[in-house]
Amino acid sequence: MKEIVLATRNKHKVREITEILGSTSIKVLSLSDFKKIPEVVEDGSTLEENAVKKARVIALRLKRWTLADDTGLEVSYLNGAPGVYSARFAGPGCSYEDNNKKLLELLEGLPAEKRKAKFRCVIALSDPKGKARTAEGSVTGVIAERTRGRNGFGYDPLFFIPRYKKTFAELDSGTKNRISHRGKALKKASKIVKKLFS
Ligand code: IMP
Repeated sequence: MKEIVLATRNKHKVREITEILGSTSIKVLSLSDFKKIPEVVEDGSTLEENAVKKARVIALRLKRWTLADDTGLEVSYLNGAPGVYSARFAGPGCSYEDNNKKLLELLEGLPAEKRKAKFRCVIALSDPKGKARTAEGSVTGVIAERTRGRNGFGYDPLFFIPRYKKTFAELDSGTKNRISHRGKALKKASKIVKKLFS
């Protein structure tokens, strides 16, 4: 069976990505399946740079096909912030709750039409020699006035999808995967993977 490494230890992401690639005959491994993998510093100024760096470093180290993603939440009222800094929006070592609290504070009192936001995800796929290509997906929504729902992770409890009248954290994982930034980017990436591995 063909194998691909996901350059992440984030269990939520591994579950989501495995579900999305699940219909293929490709075995999905993650960094937790390997010992002594160095932490890749995400110091790029764009999602693309970070995704490609993560995929390349791990692919070259393990000499395996590797897939990495980098995601940012872009809030229009904040001129696209937190964007590439979404993970550490509330400061170094902050939790998902800290980030959501900070976001709510910054948007306090704003009406729905000024709370538009977009999740953007870039997936990089590197061959064992470090040659990488990328695929992108995005989804638009509105930042809710309070957290709602218990599914997903990160900003999911605040990311409201008007069409479903639910936040990502209130949607089941199948629905989120179908419409999400990562789902869309992965669908494109998995077409490339299937072609390459066939
Ligand atoms: P990463 O660098 O791709 O891990 O993403 C940066 C940050 O964006 C994460 O720490 C999460 O807070 C957030 N994030 C990424 N993907 C999602 C998602 O699907 N839902 C909600 N938040 C997400």
